[in-house]
Amino acid sequence: MSCSLIDFCNGNVYLIYGTFLVLPEVDLFMNCEGSEIFDRLSEEYHIDSKDFVAFDVWISSKDPFKVLVATILSQNTTDKSTYKSFKTLEEKVGVEVKKIADADYNLISESIRFSGLNNSKAKKLKEIAQILLKEYHGDLWNILNESPETSRKILISLPGVGDKTADVVLLTCKGYEAFPVDTHIRRIAVRLGIAKERETYTVISNRLMTLFHGKDFLKAHHLLITHGRKTCKANKPLCQICPINYCCEFYKRKDNQGRNQQAA
Ligand code: SF4
Repeated sequence: MSCSLIDFCNGNVYLIYGTFLVLPEVDLFMNCEGSEIFDRLSEEYHIDSKDFVAFDVWISSKDPFKVLVATILSQNTTDKSTYKSFKTLEEKVGVEVKKIADADYNLISESIRFSGLNNSKAKKLKEIAQILLKEYHGDLWNILNESPETSRKILISLPGVGDKTADVVLLTCKGYEAFPVDTHIRRIAVRLGIAKERETYTVISNRLMTLFHGKDFLKAHHLLITHGRKTCKANKPLCQICPINYCCEFYKRKDNQGRNQQAA
C-alpha cells in the first residue's frame, strides 16, 4: 500500500490491520511520493546492521526474544550502551527466556547497567520472561505466530513494551506491516510536513505506512533513522546537502524566510 500524502490530506480512508482508519484532517503538506523519498535516501545511505541493535541481533540470532530484550535495553539510550549491556547480559546470564526468568534480579540489573534505568529494565525483563514461561511455553514465537493485530495486542500487554518496541519486534522478526517511530523519525516527519508536532505515535506511524510500500517498511525505517543521525539532525539540520530538501516543508519555509530577509 503506497500513495502520496496529498491523497490522505484530502480525507481518504485507508485499510490498516484490517480496520478502516480515517486520518484526522490536518493541514499537512507533502511534495514527494514515498517511493521518491525512499529512492533518494537509498542512494544516499548505506544501511549497516551494526548501526541498529535490534536488527543486528535479529540477523545474528533469528531469535525474537533476543530482539525484544535488545529493544527494551535500547529505550532511552544509545546503541553503544545497548550493545554493551546486551553482551554483558549474554555473558553473565544468557539472553534466553528460562535463564532470565530464573536469574537473580541484581545480576540482571548489574549486567545491563550501561543502558540506564537498569533497575526498572531488569524488573521488566524478568517479568516478561516469567510470563512467557508461564503462558506461552517460554517461546515468543507463540505470540508472533498469531495474527499481526493479536501479536501486537499481546506484546503491548507485556511489562515495558510500548508501541515502538512492539513494532520493532513485529517488523524485524515477522515482517508484519508496522512502522516504528522513534525521535528521529518523528522529527523528520514533522519537518517534511507529514505530521504535526503533537500528533500521536499511532497517527504518525499510520501515515508512514501509507507513504511507503509495505515491502520497504524495514529499510525505510532504517533509512529515516540514518537520515536523522547524519543529516536531519535535531539542532542543526544540514538542509543544504539534504537529498530530499526539495520535498521538505521546513526547508521551503527556511528558504522563503531567507529570500524575504534579503528582499527587505
Ligand atoms: S531539508 Fe533539512 S529539515 Fe528537511 S529533511 Fe532535509 S535536513 Fe531535514
